[in-house]
Parts: sequence; structure tokens; C-alpha cells
Amino acid sequence: MAFLILFSDLNPKNWVKYLRRQDPDLDLRIWPEVGDPAEIRFALTWKHPPGELRNYPNLACIASLGVGVDHILRDPDLPPGVPITRVVDPSMAQGMTEYVVMAVLNHCRQTADYFRHQQAAEWKIHIPMLADRIGVGILGLGQLGADAAQRLTALGFNVAGWSRSRKTLDKIASYWGGDQLGAFLSRTDILICLLPLTPDTRDILNAELFSGLRPGAFLVNPARGEHLVEDDLLAALDGGRLGGACLDVFRTEPLPPGHPFWTHPKITITPHVASLTNPAAVVPRIYDNYRRVLSGQAPLYTIDRTRGY
Ligand code: NAP
Repeated sequence: MAFLILFSDLNPKNWVKYLRRQDPDLDLRIWPEVGDPAEIRFALTWKHPPGELRNYPNLACIASLGVGVDHILRDPDLPPGVPITRVVDPSMAQGMTEYVVMAVLNHCRQTADYFRHQQAAEWKIHIPMLADRIGVGILGLGQLGADAAQRLTALGFNVAGWSRSRKTLDKIASYWGGDQLGAFLSRTDILICLLPLTPDTRDILNAELFSGLRPGAFLVNPARGEHLVEDDLLAALDGGRLGGACLDVFRTEPLPPGHPFWTHPKITITPHVASLTNPAAVVPRIYDNYRRVLSGQAPLYTIDRTRGY
């Protein structure tokens, strides 16, 4: 029974290296050189061609190479009933928390302004915004949002999170459900999106949501580009409703040349690098799931298809 690597736009070299290191005898197939489709039991996927997973009659697990599974669920022709797993690993939270802390501190300490002043050899002072006076709001208190919330709390920020269900995290205010979104936004100076991309959360970062934030609020989006209505962000920045944004993900990636975000003075851009999956760290967990599936056990880190995450 074979393990399939099914990537459409990613070099599998490093994954092959760590999977081989994990198990030199692993029957590894690399799409599109699949061999007999009936032998495939487990598929590690990244942006597979829609309908492709229907070709494997004995498939017992579809594993996302990343934390998100939106790239899998956007296929309308998935084999029904096959469990879908995602990456859950402390290395993912560490990477994301470092990114979020960087974005928040850069904003509070006006780092982008100081870069510009240095270019112009200008000695110009801005009053820093201190953590204890700032309300940070995190949309999504899951694997990544909860870790970022705890680290920002340790730095002295007033942190709240919004999720579907109520959370109890030390010193972090919990808001949940649509009814509490308004109260959550109204105490937020820095908004961080760490939601999964689902039909409920697509386009959630829009003009109406921005209007509920404290005036001049700052947006950090390292979740998914389709959370953000891009024209609404530009209007909110240009109209002064928002003070700035730090974006790691975009509706079209790579961000096209000439896109207004590239040159906007209030936007900082990074190229979808907030938390990269490290094959060395996560291959042991993925391989363990493969072994579980072969022995008839349910895989770990499954998602709920109906919820979308
Ligand atoms: P997760 O563990 O699944 O957590 C999702 C959180 O969002 C949960 O707290 C959940 O609430 C909440 N949520 C989901 N739908 C909601 C809704 N309709 N209303 C309110 N709350 C809702 O996700 P994660 O592993 O932390 O990942 C977060 C995001 O980071 C994903 O979009 C992922 O794709 C992205 N990501 C980006 C990068 C990068 O490099 N840029 C890297 C890794 C991940 P409950 O807890 O109540 O269920």
C-alpha cells in the first residue's frame, strides 16, 4: 500500500528526503507517476487538481501539507467519507506568533516611518504606543490564534479573541459568535485575523467590520487572502478609518505587479511566509498518521468537512 505525494505547484524534494529518512522502505509515489491507483492509501496534498482524488479507490486519508485545508475543500469532487487531516505542530504556532509579534511591535514603534526617516537622514521622533494602552483583537483562537494571544498578553497588551465557541485563556477576554463580534471590535486597536477560510469567514475583513473598530485601527492578516475585501481596505486606509495594515496573504498569489498594495504607504507586505511548514518538523506526525491508517486506526488532526476547518 502506497503513500502518494500530490503537489501541483510545489517541489516535493524536501518532503521525499524526510519521508525517506523516516522510512527507507516506504512505497512512495510522486504524482503524476502514480503507478496502480488502487495501491494508494494515503495522499499528502497541496493544491491538487480538482477531481484527482476520486481516482484512488482505496484512499483512506487526505493529508494537507499545511495548516489550512481550504485548498482541499475547494475541490467540488472530493471522494466522500475519506478523512481529511491538517498540520498541527508547535513549529507552526511559533512561526506565526513571531510574525504577529513582529507586525504588532513594528506598528507600535512606527518602524516603517523610521526606515523612511533614515533614508532621508531625518532625526524625527514619534511617541511610541505602549502595550498596556492597546487593545489587541484576534479573530480565531485556535492552534495559532491562542498562542499569539498568550505571547502578546505576556508583553502587556490587552488581548481579546473571537471564536465560534467560548474560550477560557488566562487574562484573555473571550468573545464568541456573531452576536459578540461588535463588542469585540469596539475594544480593538490592532486586529489580527487568524481564522480558517470557510464560507462563513470569506470576505469577513470588509468595510462594515472596519467601521466597528476603534478609529485608526491597524490590521494584520496572515490567514488567507480571501478573508479580505481588498477595495474596502484601500478605502478604509485612504479615508483614515484604518491607520495601516500588514498583509502576508493575498487573493492572488504572487501579488500581481502593479497591484495597489505594493506601493501603498500604509501597507506592509510579506510574500506568504508568516509560518512556513517545515518538513523536518512535521513529517514524523504525517508518517505516524500513515501508519495509523494502514493499521485501521483513525488518523489524528482531522477536520470537520461540514464546518470547513
Ligand atoms: P484553527 O486551529 O482551526 O482555529 C480556527 C479558529 O477560528 C478557532 O478558534 C475557531 O473557533 C475560529 N473560527 C472558525 N470559524 C469561525 C467563525 N465562523 N466565527 C468565529 N470563529 C471562527 O486554525 P489555525 O490552525 O489556528 O489557523 C488559522 C489560520 O492561519 C488559517 O487560515 C490558516 O490557513 C492560516 N495560516 C497561515 C499561514 C501563513 O504562513 N500565512 C501559515 C499557517 C496557517 P472555535 O475554536 O470555536 O472552533
